[in-house]
Amino acid sequence: MTQHFINGRHVSGRTGETMSVVAPATGEEFTRIACGSAEDVDDAVKAARAAYEGAWGRLTAAERGRLIAKLGQKVLDRFDELAQTEAQDTGKPMAQARADIEATARYFEFYGGAADKVHGHVIPFLNGYSVSVVHEPHGVTGHILPWNYPAQMFGRSLTASLAMGNAVVLKPAEEACQTALKLAVLASEVGFPDGAINIVTGRGHEAGAALSAHPGIGFMSFTGSPEVGKLVQHACAENLIPCTLELGGKSPQIVFDDADVAAAVPVVCKAIVQNTGQTCSAGSRVLVQQGIYDGFMGAVAEQFAKLRAGTPEMDLDCGPVINAKQRGRVQSFIDQARAQGIPVIAEGQIAQGVPNGGYYVTPTLFGQVPRGNRLEQEEVFGPVLAAFSFTDEEDAIRLANSTAYGLVAGVWTGNGDRQQRVAKRVRAGQVFINGYGAGGGIELPFGGTGKSGHGREKGFIALEEFAVTKTIIHRHG
Ligand code: NAD
Repeated sequence: MTQHFINGRHVSGRTGETMSVVAPATGEEFTRIACGSAEDVDDAVKAARAAYEGAWGRLTAAERGRLIAKLGQKVLDRFDELAQTEAQDTGKPMAQARADIEATARYFEFYGGAADKVHGHVIPFLNGYSVSVVHEPHGVTGHILPWNYPAQMFGRSLTASLAMGNAVVLKPAEEACQTALKLAVLASEVGFPDGAINIVTGRGHEAGAALSAHPGIGFMSFTGSPEVGKLVQHACAENLIPCTLELGGKSPQIVFDDADVAAAVPVVCKAIVQNTGQTCSAGSRVLVQQGIYDGFMGAVAEQFAKLRAGTPEMDLDCGPVINAKQRGRVQSFIDQARAQGIPVIAEGQIAQGVPNGGYYVTPTLFGQVPRGNRLEQEEVFGPVLAAFSFTDEEDAIRLANSTAYGLVAGVWTGNGDRQQRVAKRVRAGQVFINGYGAGGGIELPFGGTGKSGHGREKGFIALEEFAVTKTIIHRHG
């Protein structure tokens, strides 16, 4: 049984209600978490406010940075334990869990180093005036996060805010919150003052809704589905506070007929099966120029057919998906596409010996998906890749920009002019040329357009999101 973490201490929820947490690899309960209520959220916001006005707020930027960097070292010291916890909570293969903890440590290293490097500037103005522009914290920031990369999301969302001097309240996903709770304890151990980091676990429509509506929050960072993102943005509008929304995607990989096929094929496969397809930036559509479509997709199919899904310890290409509901959802996409006669051009396998109760899905590759189909338009969030063919550059752009999403895109071509033209015209917050995925990409601004959300996280730009710009105009005669 785990509790909330408020004001530097583990506390039970005010209502005493708990909920089950199930290991996706087995389908069995392995712990219970506290169900946060509006009162718990209020306690957490008050603790954060007190830390902001007290011990945490008094630290210099260099002192904050040093604490954040120490937390990064602590993550490396406890690497195996954190990777095990992440794998148990999410079902992901151990190699993926280790990569995630490595990336989490990188967030602490990066933002620890950045904390004292956000400098203001001076503006030359009228004679007799001095004008300076400074960046100040919001005060208390709220963070609502999903279950797919729980530790990395903690590193990405909370750490940039802490670096700017905010105190934070996190509502992690109810399906996977164990690493976040451990990271908060490690933060206390390295010397974060009580109340700087607070975690309220529980259901979205209870604890999450209470956090997004709380008048004590100065900024909200939400990562999750577009549906819930809208609710969060509505709640922020009521309090007239800004928010970032990091939502889903239907990201295209565009392969032209002059692409380096040998380089592209393994990357196209990995971009959809990494984390069992449960990645916002998953390359879930592959668009291939007509002349090479059969040859290219034949090579992808050959690799796809070798994919295996298994337990974290088996450490195969995929794990299970997060829960029974998600498995049902992914399976319904597969079943419907089959019923519509869309050809399955390759299938991976679920490994022998996986526990019967686990939430495994067969990786599935659909070829020549009709335009406008659900597989083109909707995020599956599972190991399902949809292939399309296009005629020329115009057609490729039309197809790439045909969804309401705009998160990430990949462009595969040897033609330098085309690389730049397509990168400019494709609607996405990040575009990869002759590659895809950045292994965390801590330094690289990240975020979407349209249904993929707004605002940017990662890199230095995130620090500006978590700050208020103040212009100080001094008339000195
Ligand atoms: P979700 O929207 O269901 O849940 C996300 C979080 O919101 C959870 O903590 C949940 O408890 C909370 N929540 C649910 N209802 C709420 C409410 N009414 N008010 C406030 N909070 C509420 O999303 P999910 O299923 O956990 O995650 C999958 C989605 O997240 C996918 O669409 C995926 O693409 C997206 N995602 C985006 C990014 C990104 O950076 N763009 C990263 C990871 C995941």
